[in-house]
Amino acid sequence: MKKIDAHAHVGYFGSWCDVGLTAQEMVSCMGEHEIEKSLISYPDNSVTREALKLYPEKFLGLAWMDPNQGEKALDEFSSLVDEGNFVGLKLHPLFNAYTANDAVVFPLIEQARKKDLPVFIHSGHPPFSLPWSIGQLAEAYSDARFVMVHMGHGHGVYIQAALDVAVKHDNIWLENSGMPMHTKIREAYRQVGRERIFWGSDAPFHHHAVEILRTEVCGLTEAELEDVFYGNCKQFMRL
Ligand SMILES: [Zn+2]
Repeated sequence: MKKIDAHAHVGYFGSWCDVGLTAQEMVSCMGEHEIEKSLISYPDNSVTREALKLYPEKFLGLAWMDPNQGEKALDEFSSLVDEGNFVGLKLHPLFNAYTANDAVVFPLIEQARKKDLPVFIHSGHPPFSLPWSIGQLAEAYSDARFVMVHMGHGHGVYIQAALDVAVKHDNIWLENSGMPMHTKIREAYRQVGRERIFWGSDAPFHHHAVEILRTEVCGLTEAELEDVFYGNCKQFMRL
């Protein structure tokens, strides 16, 4: 079944995690798993830009911005988007240390909204990236489109909160990488909305094959799985 990977990284992450994939390695993994395109991001956007240049047909870029950098972040975001291959904003409140609904985030959201670009935001870690804070951000910007990356991530209470918050706010979509509860993928499809959940691998943090299998066994039909693996992200990203 063909796929779009809504969450992947080209580049090397050192420190505690010590994982990485080059652009070539990522493209080779994508070939093995019928992944047509991957949305990639990296803390240093020049790494993403290089990968986009190498494989413009395979990758779409999300601009990873740190709202704590103020004007500098706004200027960089604007110029990355103007380059053409960056098609969304990536926020990682845990990595860059701010709460998802902090006022420091607002100018970037306003810029993304003005440019009609989606906002991908990491979820699942207290105190910075809890589903409820992302819900408050989505409420404050009801005309912006948010993707709650990892849909609560590793903690059952946050995973349920991701579903509850997305039910309340129809401008939140869920991305399921690194989320261990296969049944919640089916629940999200049925309860949040069939078009509002899509698949991601978060490679190189997770193996594509593992992330694919968890979705495959979640209890959806083949046609429904096609929405999760391919159709929903394609439609969401207007590809
Ligand atoms: Zn990631």
